[in-house]
Amino acid sequence: MATRVNILDYDRASLERYFVDQGENAFRARQLMKWIYQRRVGDFAQMTDLGKVLRQRLSETAEVRLPRIIADRVSVDGTRKWLLAVPGGSAIETVFIPETDRGTLCVSSQVGCSLNCTFCATARQGYNRNLSTGEIIAQLVIADRLLSADAGERVITNVVMMGMGEPLLNYESVVSAMRLMVDDLGFGLSRRRVTLSTAGVVPGIDRLASDCPVSLAVSLHAPTDELRTSIVPLNRKYDIATLLDACKRYLAGDNRRRITFEYVMLKGVNDGDRHARELVRLLQGVPAKVNLIPFNPSPGIDYECSDSRTIDRFRERLLAAGIMTITRKTRGDDIDAACGQLAGSVLDRTRRSARLQAAGA
Ligand code: SAH
Repeated sequence: MATRVNILDYDRASLERYFVDQGENAFRARQLMKWIYQRRVGDFAQMTDLGKVLRQRLSETAEVRLPRIIADRVSVDGTRKWLLAVPGGSAIETVFIPETDRGTLCVSSQVGCSLNCTFCATARQGYNRNLSTGEIIAQLVIADRLLSADAGERVITNVVMMGMGEPLLNYESVVSAMRLMVDDLGFGLSRRRVTLSTAGVVPGIDRLASDCPVSLAVSLHAPTDELRTSIVPLNRKYDIATLLDACKRYLAGDNRRRITFEYVMLKGVNDGDRHARELVRLLQGVPAKVNLIPFNPSPGIDYECSDSRTIDRFRERLLAAGIMTITRKTRGDDIDAACGQLAGSVLDRTRRSARLQAAGA
């Protein structure tokens, strides 16, 4: 049997084309999306307004394909993490973070990551492949079904593309998936409540501004090129000045919006008064918010988190300069669900993980 198409791979425009190509009315796309994303029904037989013939044809040629759940764990703080099997023998992670006024789903975009940031657990797993649109949006579909079964209502109010991988290196699939997140017939989230986080893929930032201008977070982590290159190797390709120019273009003069800059606090590396001063200077003229992320340890990663007093002092220096700054609360670290701890299980095609092991790192 030929493989069925996965309906989750299509955003609204491509789903309309899919139906038109089969001689159906484009309107079928709307009906199908309502069933899948709003009524949470994936079985074509139950989609009664589609007509019997079409239902039959869909069930022979298409499917709503969801990855198998390998593990489903809940942290003492309520954070929940799913390990999902993806074809090819690897597994990815998705995390739900409940807060009093919102529920945030942290979504993966790649199996592993190719960027090799020195402090990140995903990097150590190496890289296998990009996720498809369907595999990205399936993370919402699964979490939404399981969480709503408990709560009886939508509890995912925000999505952050901050799981495994670099979303802007999987541009097409990530943009289609985000279009489904913000589509009224999809998850209906406002663009402000969908955040893409990037290590600084400049051409991707520019394309995103016109294709799907969601909230942007940038993993800055250091105020000078020398230091940033040593911990985020991508900085060699797109240096800080180039990156900040792209950030300003992204906001296109809209003075209500800001870029969120993520800054992982590494003891003795990037957390000094000098770094805070340099960061303040750097962000002059950039509409910015800074998120300080206490470093989360992972086996084999040789950094320590800055002390809380150092983090407070760093934050106060930024605040004193008028920069909106918060320290991100660590969530789900008891189940390895915190920032930088997502590792899934990646069949590494770059052999990076094997090289690291051989080197005794
Ligand atoms: N590749 C994208 C998406 C990942 S987002 C990006 O780099 O932005 C995950 C966030 O967690 C990034 O800001 C990343 O730098 C940060 N992070 C990675 N490892 C971490 C760790 N060990 N402790 C705290 N934050 C970490």
